Amino acid sequence: MSATRPILDLFRDHRRSFEDNHYVYAVISRRSRGLSVGINLNPDKACNFDCVYCQVDRRNPPQIREVDLTRLRLELEEMIGLARSGAVFELPRFRHTPVHLRRWNDLAISGDGEPTAAREFLEAVRLIVEVKRKHQLDGIPILLLTNATLLHRPQVQQALSLLDENEGEIWAKLDAGTTDYYHEIERTSIPFERVLDNLKQAAQHRPIVIQSLFLRWRGQAPEAREIEAYCQRLREIVEAGGQIRLVQVYTVARTPAEAEALPLNDAELESLAHIVRLRTGLLVEAYPGG
Ligand code: SF4
Repeated sequence: MSATRPILDLFRDHRRSFEDNHYVYAVISRRSRGLSVGINLNPDKACNFDCVYCQVDRRNPPQIREVDLTRLRLELEEMIGLARSGAVFELPRFRHTPVHLRRWNDLAISGDGEPTAAREFLEAVRLIVEVKRKHQLDGIPILLLTNATLLHRPQVQQALSLLDENEGEIWAKLDAGTTDYYHEIERTSIPFERVLDNLKQAAQHRPIVIQSLFLRWRGQAPEAREIEAYCQRLREIVEAGGQIRLVQVYTVARTPAEAEALPLNDAELESLAHIVRLRTGLLVEAYPGG
């Protein structure tokens, strides 16, 4: 086994499960450069996308369907204790974590689906903010990982305002530049225009991070015209007065929903990131191998 193997395994281990927890988990995240404490608001695995590369295992029915906020609070308090003290790195799953990644970076609202679609989303954000304040977790941002389809909903807007006041940041998915490719990869009936409008709106109110997964789908890497269209979509957000703090470009790293969804190799991903950098002038980071 190579010396880097345990580190790669750590990055690939994105199980949204932790001990007996229902909602709160921990992962070592390359994109966060450290420990990320995740909050899964979709134990029912429901999503309004059906991405070809999705890593959520939907073959087995969910054991839990509701978000029990009392339990979520208990799990979050316990995990904060482990993360803060560093005790989390003594657990078998994390004991290979290299020194430079032994830092707690963020709280991440995520899910085995789209977190903003959860009925309890607003209440859960209130709870997370309250716990963050109680523990004085200044410097630990609250990331919202979202496909941006529902950011226009009044309840979600309320939650975004709360996040804005509490070191929140939107990490929004954008995997395509053209409508056809968007529907091919995300397999949703939600119009691409709605996602783009929501991204513009969100970025006009605060800087956002764009997360883009590019892959080899049915033997084909994204065509040059798709990447050009994608760059154009990013430019349109900026031209509309939006701020994009960072573009994260990555690829398939874990078992995807469809066997024909394969990763780009490192050189392909680096070259794609280079093109996006040149064509948009934005800060772009590539995460080869996921
Ligand atoms: S948006 Fe996320 S959870 Fe939903 S299908 Fe796509 S990858 Fe899976």
